[in-house]
Amino acid sequence: MSLKSNPNDTFENAFQYAAIGMALVSPQGQWLRVNRALCEITGYSEQELLKLSFQDITHPDDLNMDLDYLRQLLDGELESYTLEKRYFHKNGNIVWILLSVSLMRDEDGQPHFFIAQIQDITDRIMALREMRESEQRLELAIEGAELGTWDWNIRTGHVTFNDRWAKMLGYSLEEIDTHISSWEKRVHPDDAEETREILARHLRGDIEIYESRHRLRHKDGHWIWVLDKGKVIERNEVGDPVRACGTHLDISSRKEYEQQIEQQSEQLRIANEQLDRLAHIDSLTNLYNRRAFTARLREEIQRANRNLTSLSLMMLDIDEFKAYNDTYGHPEGDILLQQLANVLQNSIRASDVAARIGGEEFAVILPETNVDDARRVAEKLCRSIAGYPWDLRSITVSIGVTTKAVEHSMTTDSSVLLSRVDAALYYSKSHGKNRATHSNSIDKVQK
Ligand code: GH3
Ligand code: MG
Ligand code: MG
Repeated sequence: MSLKSNPNDTFENAFQYAAIGMALVSPQGQWLRVNRALCEITGYSEQELLKLSFQDITHPDDLNMDLDYLRQLLDGELESYTLEKRYFHKNGNIVWILLSVSLMRDEDGQPHFFIAQIQDITDRIMALREMRESEQRLELAIEGAELGTWDWNIRTGHVTFNDRWAKMLGYSLEEIDTHISSWEKRVHPDDAEETREILARHLRGDIEIYESRHRLRHKDGHWIWVLDKGKVIERNEVGDPVRACGTHLDISSRKEYEQQIEQQSEQLRIANEQLDRLAHIDSLTNLYNRRAFTARLREEIQRANRNLTSLSLMMLDIDEFKAYNDTYGHPEGDILLQQLANVLQNSIRASDVAARIGGEEFAVILPETNVDDARRVAEKLCRSIAGYPWDLRSITVSIGVTTKAVEHSMTTDSSVLLSRVDAALYYSKSHGKNRATHSNSIDKVQK
């Protein structure tokens, strides 16, 4: 093989135009022949390169390794070698190359020259480095976010967990069996079914992402809440899941906070209910108070108008109650008010609305009740109160009743009803008490 170039030689052409860099190098390292590809890789022209040795353009950190290999070639310990190393490009940039070198000897077996093949692998090295860096960034992010990770081989059940996954549950990584059962057996029994269902749906491909909040048993025996998120990242030819990866985030404190909020809103709800009660219920008798009665009366009038039904209203006042108080004392008077409220409540329908609207005055709204029925109800109530076995003394009430007939629906509002029922009650009082009077009867008398 000649070192001189011969343009007609096919070997020469192959050498010059090879896609990869090629060179003949003296045992001392001097470039003897270089091809175009190598010139391109290094940025030097052929003439420039031939004045240099490979040592001149090799990164100092990679030089010794290369020289060591060359020595082994020269000593006959190696036939050839391949290594990755760095050149300096003419412009000063680093070029990563993949270098393969073998030694040609002359007829006497003396080293003649090295044959070097040089490939530019800068892009590949950079891509690898970038990948490694982004992997490191990801690891840092996962660590920083305090995420446990799992990587599940679905066919074998083998799972690779990270440190944090184990630590979250109070274990070191070595204590955790690298199997899916390490997770499964720690899931809270109350959460197991739902979690399994969500996972199954994801594995079937019904949902894009697997996401579950469930409890896991900590080494100490208590439960921690985790947010478990993951995804199948590999399926086989028929679409069965092969590999899935995901993360665990400890959300116990968040859950605790949520539960606190829940408790507080429950307390708030109860408090509101009590406030509402206070605003609408008479605390002595547990009947509606005057305010609630007024509102309910308006509602019932509207309903009667809408449904074209009649509506009656009844008002009661205890007879001679002042004397009762004077005789037995105010507290006994209160007890009587409570007892009367009970008797009243028990004598009416569930749809009737009883209220204490004054000191010893009660009212009852009777929806869907016409004149005759209202009169019957009032008279019956009057009799049953009078006949009730009261503790200290017999008790009677005077009652007034009025009715809003269907045909007068739009003209009769609550103030009309109230003044008519008042008049009826007054009539009962002034006509001997212990009696019920319907406002219609007064009208007739007055006519
Ligand atoms: P009448 O038959 O005319 O109704 O006679 P009365 O004594 O019942 O007279 P009136 O209705 O005017 O008297 C109301 C009395 O009711 C005055 C007061 O002593 C008593 N009273 C009002 N509110 C309460 C209360 O909350 N508790 C008690 N114990 N007594 C009350
Ligand atoms: Mg009174
Ligand atoms: Mg009275």
